[in-house]
Amino acid sequence: MKFKQLTRHVWAGYTYWPLPVMVWIVEDHDGLTLVDGGLPSMWYPMREALRTTFGGRPINRILLTHGHSDHIGMLYELTEEISVAIMAHEIEIPFLSGEKSYTTLREGSKNKDIKPFPKNKIEPLEMKGSYGGMIPYHTPGHSLGHVAFYHPEDRILLAGDLFTAIFGKLRRPIEKFTANMEESLQSGAIVNRLQPKLTACSHCGVVKEASLQYCKLVKDQTN
Ligand SMILES: [Zn+2]
Repeated sequence: MKFKQLTRHVWAGYTYWPLPVMVWIVEDHDGLTLVDGGLPSMWYPMREALRTTFGGRPINRILLTHGHSDHIGMLYELTEEISVAIMAHEIEIPFLSGEKSYTTLREGSKNKDIKPFPKNKIEPLEMKGSYGGMIPYHTPGHSLGHVAFYHPEDRILLAGDLFTAIFGKLRRPIEKFTANMEESLQSGAIVNRLQPKLTACSHCGVVKEASLQYCKLVKDQTN
């Protein structure tokens, strides 16, 4: 797992499995926010990076873009060691607590990788709130309760699986893992609204000025 500073406050931690998987550490005046939980194998290098790269500063909260297994993997061990809330959109919470199962192809086959979290470890995001300098935006489609997080000061959107990024190009989320592609593409219009300088995707990287590519992306889908 490698770490790269994307903006003043935002770091990416990424690994390869077989797609690149990215999580983010966001620095704030009072500590750190972890956005997404990646894969189980990411916990030990993350723990080491917290001690070294991030100087032992505390993780104050964990924010989830959504609850697919490749976005929560390290959280089982992390929350054993660190007492911190996992926050997700309220629609996504039943999928994390085991009351509901994802139904898309990959989700169906991977639900076995999603061990339910105890309900007292999960909290709903306040969608009008601000967390570690970021504002959550409900961006449904890939999953029902998918959220993207925007850091207005750094002008970076942590997009989760709202998009993918291939060699700096904005691409749709992976179809077979996406509950409703049309809705997800509509949610993607958030890049026109927010005009982020950088859009960081869980798979496989960062896109500059995503709004310039968004219209083409939608057209390609409808052709
Ligand atoms: Zn996903």
